Amino acid sequence: MKNNTPAQIARRQRRKLAIGTLAAVVILSLAVIVIYAALGKLGDETPMPSSSKQAETHTSATGRAPSLPESLPASLPGTSEAESNTPGASENGTPAASEAPVPESPVPDTTAPVITLNGEQALSITEGNPYTEPGYTASDDVDGDITDRVVVSGIPAEWVPGTYHIGYYVEDMAGNSATLIRTVSVVAAETPPAPPETAAPEPPATEAPVAVAPNGRTVYLTIDDGPCENTERLLNILDQYGVKVTFFVTGAFPEYAPLIGEEARRGHTVGVHSYTHDYSVIYITEEGFFADFDQMASVVEQQAGFRPTLLRFPGGSSNQKSADYTAGIMTRLVAAVTERGLRYCDWNVSSGDGNGGLTAEQVYANVIDGVHKLNKDAIVLLHDTHSTTIDAMPAIIETLLAEGYTLAPITEQTELAHHTVFN
Ligand SMILES: [Zn+2]
Repeated sequence: MKNNTPAQIARRQRRKLAIGTLAAVVILSLAVIVIYAALGKLGDETPMPSSSKQAETHTSATGRAPSLPESLPASLPGTSEAESNTPGASENGTPAASEAPVPESPVPDTTAPVITLNGEQALSITEGNPYTEPGYTASDDVDGDITDRVVVSGIPAEWVPGTYHIGYYVEDMAGNSATLIRTVSVVAAETPPAPPETAAPEPPATEAPVAVAPNGRTVYLTIDDGPCENTERLLNILDQYGVKVTFFVTGAFPEYAPLIGEEARRGHTVGVHSYTHDYSVIYITEEGFFADFDQMASVVEQQAGFRPTLLRFPGGSSNQKSADYTAGIMTRLVAAVTERGLRYCDWNVSSGDGNGGLTAEQVYANVIDGVHKLNKDAIVLLHDTHSTTIDAMPAIIETLLAEGYTLAPITEQTELAHHTVFN
């Protein structure tokens, strides 16, 4: 057995060792090549997700809509979800984006945050008891919990009896916003001091005039020319927010006259605009004007049970068109209505909707801009004869309440707007 000499065994073992080492080196080299190739492949892909992410961030920044008017549709709760597939989502459709994990969501945030109120959305407290905020939370699909970004407005300085609207407004990091309103009714304590009964006819007792918060202003929304086919929808929107307004009514749509009673019953103020709204009837003589006024006042009395003492001149007291009919008629009428114990009310903000043709967004912008520019209480001219005005109402109400304005109907205590008389 020459193969089994110690020297031969040693040589055989060295050979085995050499073959084993060579195999190990080959395997290791292959492994290194494979790893190197894998790293190289990753290196090629890495820039793709990061560059597409930059592009998206840019899109989201330029697409930001921070101001309320611009984000009008998105600011309305529940309307923003349909917008989640906006342009920009298609930018990240490359397969590489799904292979490599991206730290942040690649979809731009176009979904409005959601505010949730603790407790009831409509609360009632008795006069003299302190109001305790039941709390709220806000969350966003991208930013998560953003409760600390909620801005609360509309807390009055004094909780005198009346209805208050607490506004909750929140914006996520991308500028999508949401607004919620909580209505708080303060009910008079058991035995309020009985107001002396006056003989003068007055609108039915609605709610006590809402106190003007020291830092806030009151906005009086006034609605002319109805009631008409749009008025029921408007009344329901106003009820939804617990907001009271002032209607200056006409006899233009006699089939809707019963809605005058409805306006009064739901706590709104009703004044006379005109029965005919026809300048050739009302601006010829004082007698013609008052015959028309009395006719409309009688309709209101039939429908609502009281005779109004508040009126708005068609065209306002500043209208110059009346000069086409009788020179100086407005000067005489302004004096004559006062002699009769009537009060007339013009406006200091116009929605511009008088001739129709405006979109809801334009009506909204005119009202909000007009209110912002004033440095006093606003009396806003609107017309329920235009459906886009009704469409704009929820956003108008939500914005004004969220910004801390008080919305109120005109009362005996309201300082009325009077234009300069030109005729
Ligand atoms: Zn009118």
